[in-house]
Amino acid sequence: MAQGNLSGAVDPTERAVQLVREARRVLVLSGAGLSTESGIPDFRGDSGVWTRFRPDDFRYERFLHDPAGFWRLRAQLMEALDLDRARPHAAHESLARAAASPRVLGHVTQNIDGLLQTAGHPEDKLVEIHGSARSVRCIGCGSFFPYEVARAAVEAGRFPPPCPACHQPLKPGTVLFGETLPEDRLMRAAEWAREADLVLVVGSSLVVYPVASLPGVALDRGARLVIANEAPTPYDGHADAVLRGRAGVVVPELLRSGGLA
Ligand code: NAD
Repeated sequence: MAQGNLSGAVDPTERAVQLVREARRVLVLSGAGLSTESGIPDFRGDSGVWTRFRPDDFRYERFLHDPAGFWRLRAQLMEALDLDRARPHAAHESLARAAASPRVLGHVTQNIDGLLQTAGHPEDKLVEIHGSARSVRCIGCGSFFPYEVARAAVEAGRFPPPCPACHQPLKPGTVLFGETLPEDRLMRAAEWAREADLVLVVGSSLVVYPVASLPGVALDRGARLVIANEAPTPYDGHADAVLRGRAGVVVPELLRSGGLA
């Protein structure tokens, strides 16, 4: 049992550490808040991406009807995210180390920035549920290319950037609003949610589906829930512990004290 403080209430940090220590099947869910300390803005925070761009401009239908116009804005969005400059921080690194433990089932990230992989996260325990901004895919032949291929074309004024193989338009490697999520990633994430005995949420507002549904799936099967997020989420009232600090401070400490990293 965690120690109570003088008022008898259990400190959320102690409670969270205890839950991590006891857990045998941890599922990590992460979002844009994991990477803000690496300099990548989130979507819904005070200086988030949606203070500068309109979500509707990045819908799949918009891409299909006007790929050139879509890419003009997309190139600006990629500049705003500035992924090339970003480096993983202590939370990415500790989550990558923790994932090597047999006590961690897997990690479903909504992030498209690739920083967990840069930090050495094992690929077989990571689901990038919204895809990756580091790649692009041809809508004609289906080939994948590094994002740099699209960037070079855009910088040369070619909108939309063409596939080097078949010249059809390239699409970002991310899942666009209104686009179907890949079935295999969804199934894997749902399976982990059903098996987990602890869900650890890091830096997500938990309002974007399907990730927003996963804590509920796990809670229905008796899992515990720990949320590490700066702002309130719709699941806070169902959580066993809510930690309000910055991910780069809270997460490494939690995983170290919990015996995972
Ligand atoms: P979100 O923007 O909806 O929520 C981010 C949450 O993180 C907010 O509640 C905020 O309070 C919290 N937060 C911000 N900085 C934090 C910090 N340092 N420590 C702890 N918490 C912090 O993001 P979401 O839930 O991931 O969902 C929305 C979408 O954002 C996803 O589709 C994702 O693909 C996309 N996105 C990803 C990136 C990225 O890859 N880095 C960047 C922007 C948006």
